[in-house]
Amino acid sequence: MFNIFKKKPIDSIQVDSSDMSQNNPDRKVEITEISIRYSYEWKEDVPMDERDTENFESRPFCKMLNSLGRVYSRSDIETMSARLGYSVWDRCGGLDCRHRWVRVVITKKLKEPTILVSPR
Ligand SMILES: [Zn+2]
Repeated sequence: MFNIFKKKPIDSIQVDSSDMSQNNPDRKVEITEISIRYSYEWKEDVPMDERDTENFESRPFCKMLNSLGRVYSRSDIETMSARLGYSVWDRCGGLDCRHRWVRVVITKKLKEPTILVSPR
């Protein structure tokens, strides 16, 4: 059995990033979404000629994640763990896997909200 998240992971948060200075007299509201994602990478110490080559073939799971080249939320990784029955977060493709999760922070301004904040 593996440890699963006691709480639901928080994958994204939205913060008020409005300009509060005089440069923004209309108090236009700006919201920024900050998301934490993970990309599936080789461990740094794996030599190039051992990265899914003839003598060092990757597992199907690792091949698939590498070929998709996308990023995953912690929730996505927990879902994979639940399906596969072990912690993909801790062990990636399994015991002695030569891959790792690398954190990526993505910030995105949400589309112009039209709300005006009344001055206090
Ligand atoms: Zn692997």
